[in-house]
Amino acid sequence: MSCPPQSTASPDPCSASGRPAAERHHELGVYVHVPFCERICPYCDFAVVRAPVLARDREDAFVAALIAEFGRRLPLFGASRLATLYFGGGTPSRLRAESVARVIDAVRAALPATGAALEITLEVNPSTTERARLAAFRAAGVNRLSIGVQSFADATLKRLGRAHRAEAGRATVAAARDAGFANLSLDLLFAAPAQTCADLDADLDAFLACAPEHASAYALTLEEGTPFERAVQRGRLALPEEDDVAAMLERVAERFAAAGLARYEVSSYARAGFESRHNQRYWQRRPVLGIGPGAWSNEAPRAGAPFGARRANARDLDLWLARIGAGEPGALDPPERLDARTARGEAAFLALRTAAGLDAASFAAEFGAPPRAYWNAAIDELVAAGLLVEDSARADSLRLTPRGLLLSDSVFLRFV
Ligand code: SF4
Repeated sequence: MSCPPQSTASPDPCSASGRPAAERHHELGVYVHVPFCERICPYCDFAVVRAPVLARDREDAFVAALIAEFGRRLPLFGASRLATLYFGGGTPSRLRAESVARVIDAVRAALPATGAALEITLEVNPSTTERARLAAFRAAGVNRLSIGVQSFADATLKRLGRAHRAEAGRATVAAARDAGFANLSLDLLFAAPAQTCADLDADLDAFLACAPEHASAYALTLEEGTPFERAVQRGRLALPEEDDVAAMLERVAERFAAAGLARYEVSSYARAGFESRHNQRYWQRRPVLGIGPGAWSNEAPRAGAPFGARRANARDLDLWLARIGAGEPGALDPPERLDARTARGEAAFLALRTAAGLDAASFAAEFGAPPRAYWNAAIDELVAAGLLVEDSARADSLRLTPRGLLLSDSVFLRFV
């Protein structure tokens, strides 16, 4: 299958460049993982717990554990200001607004915000219960919603095993606007089972009619151990072929660009000024404190860990709760201290994910030499293959070409 061209507009890359290390490490992003979902989607491999109904006492105990973990771990980060706060999941909008407010208040009481307006994002799934809470989430301090619409086609949503239907997606977007949210991100999942280019175009029409400020678009991937993976292995489910997925991805990027949503990262698109500040922290390798089951943290460089460290919390909710309750760390393992080689590779491929690309001067300032000192042959081959472009005006900085964006995973492998 191929998608005929519809627009010649090209993405307008925005800057995702980092700031000096000393400045950026005083700011902290906080990620809060809420694992509860109405039902478990058959392609999902996140740390999730099925909870069609979330009992009040269970929710209260969970929120108390989140706040306890935050208070215990914050001193380890040595941060003085809060840059971003992100509630992800799972489905954090399954929490009552007063629970979200308790977490926001605890975080803000411990960490004053940076000068820039604080970005507080909450992931929301379309459902009646959660729609009714949007105004209260706004009053609690949430100023950005990430809505998991995934598709506006009932047939696609059904094949994906989603709990909601298209009308619920539209109603949630409308309710978010009514509640005063001026910064909406919508998720789009494409390359779903049996999806055609025509299906995708219809989906994009509906998606863009919502005029989101930000969009995240992902091709469906098969994750190990999920029902979808088992169904494909048994021949009961077929996903679009690789070439078809690439054609769909090109179509998504074309349509978004024509609608003013510039691609600023491999899977992320935004109107100018609406790029996700929290997600940029990961690509720029800035510190993030993750709380809740399965949450990851990135720790700033310090004595004994000159290239930073990271650690993951226990994924199992009950285990995480038990550890927090016993005064133990939410993570089972000690932090992984990054060595220079790992840190260089991550710096390269995370920067290459962004439209701004890998800034050779910043890289050299951190690692003692420019990227070519470490990957000369790989860079030559990737440039010759039309996957990377080198910008001589920026000290041989690197970024992905349109073809490199399609094959980004194979490019990234050359740097790790
Ligand atoms: S709603 Fe999202 S987090 Fe929950 S099961 Fe589905 S894909 Fe996973």
